[in-house]
Amino acid sequence: MTKPILDVMNMNKDFQVKSKTALFRKPTSVRVLNDISFELIEGETLSIVGESGCGKTTLGRCIVRGMDASSGNVIYHTEDGQKIEFLKLKGKKSKQYRKDIQMIFQDPYSSLSPRMSVFDIISEPLIANFNLKKSKIEEKVTEIAEKTGLNVSYLRRYPHAFSGGQRQRIAIARALITQPRLIVCDEAVSALDVSIQAQIINLLKDLQEQYQITYIFISHDLSIVQNISDRVAVMHLGRIVELASTDSLFGQPKHPYTEALMSAVPQPDPEMKKDRIILEGEVPNPANPPSGCHFHPRCAYRTDKCVQQVPELREVGYNHFTACHYAEELHLRGVQNDAANTN
Ligand code: SF4
Repeated sequence: MTKPILDVMNMNKDFQVKSKTALFRKPTSVRVLNDISFELIEGETLSIVGESGCGKTTLGRCIVRGMDASSGNVIYHTEDGQKIEFLKLKGKKSKQYRKDIQMIFQDPYSSLSPRMSVFDIISEPLIANFNLKKSKIEEKVTEIAEKTGLNVSYLRRYPHAFSGGQRQRIAIARALITQPRLIVCDEAVSALDVSIQAQIINLLKDLQEQYQITYIFISHDLSIVQNISDRVAVMHLGRIVELASTDSLFGQPKHPYTEALMSAVPQPDPEMKKDRIILEGEVPNPANPPSGCHFHPRCAYRTDKCVQQVPELREVGYNHFTACHYAEELHLRGVQNDAANTN
């Protein structure tokens, strides 16, 4: 049975941007998250993909409250069935529930304090959230260090003594120490070598199985996303333009932007290279987004309707949502379809 753990509802985020040339002009408001809504199911991995600047990292930060959303709501479903307005939590309740949702950042070199020992880094959230004896803290840190593949005899060392992969294991141990139910992984393996990426992905999968953790996995690497996700949301210019199960999205994308992203996924057959879709033009400026469908200046299938009308995110197949006026008519290429064509 599928049980929700989080509902993100109509989330918007605006940034105020000051012009460098017109010093005395009022700052302009730039919408970087535009009416984002989705439901997260307990135990699943939902990946969020899109080009850099699409708003995926901002979305992750707004969910964990590392940044305030401008409007919208996040409902957190607790283990005992309560529905909590997560963004409005204050005081004791905030302490009680915020530890359930943690984040792992992209850069293991800057996300760990160089002045703290690994033991102090991992134990910090534990000390902040629980009133535990020193011996219990030591026991828990040792346990989580072992689970994440860290050498416990090195826990008194400082982060600079560790490699990139080891530092990301430290970051994972720190995120896990409060026994969260949901972890937002923001490009958690992007800064690592390919062989280390595979180890960290396997570690995340093992931990998910062991602790029934739910992941929001933010990434631009579609090969990894295909490997790790149950569902995928595609973001373009602050909006979700497609949301579906991994098989459905990769096999039969329903949005031309997703099709273009898929075409860049490396294929074993070198002949497939010729099918890569190169998007025309620049990524649109979020301060001055195009009319109608924001993707229309770069879309090969656009019509006048696309220039004038904003497409709604709607269900076009079983649990397959897309924001394209012509989703039912277009026959777009997915990764698995391409593979089938080569047989
Ligand atoms: Fe392209 Fe039009 Fe669909 Fe937008 S609505 S993705 S411009 S076909």
